[in-house]
Amino acid sequence: MNRRHFIKLGVVGTGAALAGVEAVSGQNIPVASKPSTMVAMPISVAPLANGDLDAMFADMLERAGVNALFPFIYSHEPHRAGVVPEGGRVGNFHGGNYARPHMEFYHDTPLTREDMTAPEFGGADILERVIPVAKKHGIRTFPFLLEDNTLPALVPHWQGLYEVDHHGRPTTGHPGGPCFNNPYYQNFTLGLVEDYARSYDIGGIMWGSERQGGLLNTLGISQSGGQDPGKTTCFCEFCLKKGRDRGIDVERARRGYDEMENFTRAGRAGQRPRDGYFATFWRLLLNYPEVLAWENLWTTSRHEFQAAIYRKVKSVNPALQVGWHGWQNISFNPFHRAEENYADVAGFSDFIRPALYNNVAGGRFVGFVKNAHGSVFGDLPPEVAQDVFLRQLNYNEAPYDKLAATGFSADYVERETRRAVESVAGHPVQIWPGVDIDVPVSAGESHCTPESVGRAVKAAFKGSAQGIILSRNYTEMKPENLSGAGSALKELGMI
Ligand SMILES: [Zn+2]
Repeated sequence: MNRRHFIKLGVVGTGAALAGVEAVSGQNIPVASKPSTMVAMPISVAPLANGDLDAMFADMLERAGVNALFPFIYSHEPHRAGVVPEGGRVGNFHGGNYARPHMEFYHDTPLTREDMTAPEFGGADILERVIPVAKKHGIRTFPFLLEDNTLPALVPHWQGLYEVDHHGRPTTGHPGGPCFNNPYYQNFTLGLVEDYARSYDIGGIMWGSERQGGLLNTLGISQSGGQDPGKTTCFCEFCLKKGRDRGIDVERARRGYDEMENFTRAGRAGQRPRDGYFATFWRLLLNYPEVLAWENLWTTSRHEFQAAIYRKVKSVNPALQVGWHGWQNISFNPFHRAEENYADVAGFSDFIRPALYNNVAGGRFVGFVKNAHGSVFGDLPPEVAQDVFLRQLNYNEAPYDKLAATGFSADYVERETRRAVESVAGHPVQIWPGVDIDVPVSAGESHCTPESVGRAVKAAFKGSAQGIILSRNYTEMKPENLSGAGSALKELGMI
C-alpha cells in the first residue's frame, strides 16, 4: 500500500486510530470533517496467531478501509479458532481464551485457569500480539464473544453451566447452551469481559448468542433444522426458582411443553390434527399460557444477562463500546423478531449488529419455512407458508422454488437495517449490519460477486446504517468480493 492511501484511510479512523497513524506518518494529519464510520472485520484466531499481521491488515485497509477487528477471541469451537481438529468435528480440540486469563477477575465459577486457557497456538496471548500491530494500521480491536453451544468435550467443568431440558436432562448442545440464569455462567462471563476491558487496549466488546427461546425450538420454528422437540430449555434449578418468583406455575409450564413436544412429533410424522395444525397450536396456548410465560422468562433473562455485561464493561471504562451480534434467525423468523425487540435492549447497547447475510439467506429461509411447516404451519403448503412469512416480515423476495438459488436481495438488507434503526430511535445506539461476503452456502445456492456485495453494502447505508461489519470472517472472503465492499464504501464516501 502506498503511504498516501494509508494516511487517507487513517483519517476516517477514530482518535485511537489517529494516534497510530501519526506515529507512522510524522506529518500533520487533517482532522476528519465527518464522524468516522465503523468498518469492522470479524476473523478467526489462526491467522492472527500465525500470519503476517502487517500484510494482512494492509490488505484489509487497502481493499475495504477496515478500521476495527473483531476476533473470535474466546471459543471452544474449532471453526472459530480456525483450526481443523484431529478426530472429527471437535475431536481433540480444547479451545478457550486465546488471550491470557487473568484469574483475579474470575470469582465463584467452577472454570479453572486450565479450563479457560486455549492451548492451541502454544498458549500465546493473541490480543497482546495483535493489538499494537492493528493500532499501527489505525485498526481498533473488539473481542467478539460468540457464545458456544456445543459442550466442550475436554472441559468437564462447563457441564454445570449448561441448561436443563423440560424432562430434567442436562443439555450438551444446540438448541441448548449455557444458562443465562446460572450464576456461575454469569460470573464467568462478567469476569471475562472485565478481564478484556482492564487488561487490553480494546475499543469495545461484542457479545452474541445464536439461540432463541425454548418454545420456538420445541416447535422447530428456527433456521436450525432437525432439532429434538424434547429438549426445551431451561428448567435448571435457577430458572425454576426465578419462574416461581415470577408467579409461574412451573409444573404446568413443564406439562405444556410436553404437549407442545407431542404436537410437533405428530406434525413431523404427518398426522394432521382433526382441527388443523394452527387451531390445535392455539388451543395449547390457551390451555397452557404458562408456556408463553416460560418463553418470556428465557428471553428477558438473556436481556438481563446482556445488561449485566454492559454495566460491567462500562464500570471499567465508559468509553468502551458494548454491543450485540444478532442471529440471522431474528431477521426472518417473525416469532423470534417478536422476542428480540431491539427497543428492549436499546437502553444498554452502544451498537447492534443484525446479521443480514443476504446471499446465504435464501437457503436458510427455505430451511426455516420447511421447519415451520412441520408444526404450526402444517396447514399450508411450504410455498404458501413462505409467502405468508414474507408478507409478515415485509420482504419482497423470489418465490419458494427459486429463493435458495437466488439468495435474498439487497432490498432485504435495506429494509431490515431501517427496521433496526427505527427500533432504537431515541437512543444513542448505532446499527452496524453484518453484510454477506462469501458466507458458505450449500450446493446449488447462489454465490457472492463484487457487484452483489457492493449492492448489499449500499443498501445497508440506504437503510441508515451508521457502520458495517463485513461478514462473517475474513478467512472466508474472496479478495475480489472484499474489494467489492470497499468500492461501494468509497463510492459512498465512507472511506
Ligand atoms: Zn436455567
